[in-house]
Amino acid sequence: MNMATSNAQVDEVGAEDGPLYEARRKIYPIAVHGRFRKIKWALLAITLGIYYLLPFVRWDRGPNAPSQAVLVDLANGRFYFFFIEIWPQEFYYLTGLLILAALVLFLMNAVAGRIWCGYLCPQTVWTDLFQAIERMVEGDPRERREKLKHASRAQRAFEAASKHTLWLMVAWWTGGAWVLYFADAPTLVMQLLKGEGPAIAYVWIGILTFTTYVLAGHMREQVCTYMCPWPRIQAALTDEYALNVTYRYDRGEPRGSFKKTQALKLQGLPGGDCVDCNQCVAACPTGVDIREGLQLGCIQCGLCIDACDTVMKKINRPTGLIAYDTDMNVQARQQGRPTVTRLLRARTVLYAALIVVVGGIMLTTLATRGYEGLSVIHDRNPLFVQLSDGSIRNAYTLRLVNKELSSRQFQIAVEGVPDATVEVVGGVPDAQGRPVVAVGPDQTYEARVLVSTHARLPENASLGITFHATDIEGGRTASAPDHFKGP
Ligand code: SF4
Ligand code: SF4
Repeated sequence: MNMATSNAQVDEVGAEDGPLYEARRKIYPIAVHGRFRKIKWALLAITLGIYYLLPFVRWDRGPNAPSQAVLVDLANGRFYFFFIEIWPQEFYYLTGLLILAALVLFLMNAVAGRIWCGYLCPQTVWTDLFQAIERMVEGDPRERREKLKHASRAQRAFEAASKHTLWLMVAWWTGGAWVLYFADAPTLVMQLLKGEGPAIAYVWIGILTFTTYVLAGHMREQVCTYMCPWPRIQAALTDEYALNVTYRYDRGEPRGSFKKTQALKLQGLPGGDCVDCNQCVAACPTGVDIREGLQLGCIQCGLCIDACDTVMKKINRPTGLIAYDTDMNVQARQQGRPTVTRLLRARTVLYAALIVVVGGIMLTTLATRGYEGLSVIHDRNPLFVQLSDGSIRNAYTLRLVNKELSSRQFQIAVEGVPDATVEVVGGVPDAQGRPVVAVGPDQTYEARVLVSTHARLPENASLGITFHATDIEGGRTASAPDHFKGP
């Protein structure tokens, strides 16, 4: 792999070239039309639409919970995702989700290289949007070069100011949408509009406005080429069967101008389909010349395919000189061997199987998760007390968890200690005299519980005791073990 950067359609903005340093060449890709451009526009609209609008989607959870479909409620330590509510102690779901995301990324890479980078990565999506704004305001690079020769200083300044203002507006809205995931979106929008929002919201909007503006507006492909670790990782994960954007050099070479190639062909000499028009390079958002082979800078966006297909159609040659293909197949065609497309291979099957297993585990744990929880802490000092009637008493702190969105009453019982009586300090027993603890909707409650027994215990007794908290209405029980100490 090499890190080639095209010299077409680029303007030097740095000062001097030197042996140890090459000034950054700013890339202004031309607009292209075609299949992959359409797919990219559609994915851009879907992903940005989801990002900007999702905080406004409502989800009715009843009167005791927020009605925002996706909400990170930092104050109460909850994450709401439609019908799922995650408590802080269930953060392993997030770990599972990250593992799942990594496996999906590996599978995508094994099937078609860096399609994540080319179509779905936030850096690509926002850069694409910023470049579209740039082209809308300043024109396509060809127009822009002409304009720069004739435009007045005032016109150039006006266009630059318009572009940066639009960029900043998009960046500001990006930061604004981010904070809406952390509070009730309509309320926060009103607060922000009136200048009454929390200070932290303004800080985060500022940070994200700045990073979006810099990363998508100014750094663009530099992030993919130099800052992102994924190209290095995926280079190690890919294999010869993965489909990558490939220049079919078997068909394209020897390249040359249309006229020159026609002349060569008339003389019976070999002439390739590549007319060396450089449109593929001019369309590339990272400035790569795909004809030099698979490269670290190539994000597999397919725009060079669209650019080249347009040229091929114009000169009446078959499209697909650049296409999703494998180098192995290009070589096979050159040698007259049959081509192979193998989607089912050990690594794709393995990744798919792991996705099914991890996804299955997550779904099962979600479907069978308890909506009540119990933990117990024994008093450290004293470990037990002998009462005047001779009975032995141990004291515990019970933490009861009610994940349901309505109040519940739990009956507390123990097993493992003979003739045990249970008393909830400050609690009111129910009509049958059973010790009961009430826990509010979506809350935890800490109760102090005393367990006593008149039974004769062995010397230095340490009996296993199990606490049960049973929902009086629903009948579901949470249990937790501990010890009962004696003299
Ligand atoms: S766009 Fe196609 S024909 Fe033109 S230089 Fe690139 S590969 Fe060759
Ligand atoms: S070489 Fe082609 S596929 Fe790769 S980044 Fe450039 S335009 Fe996209």
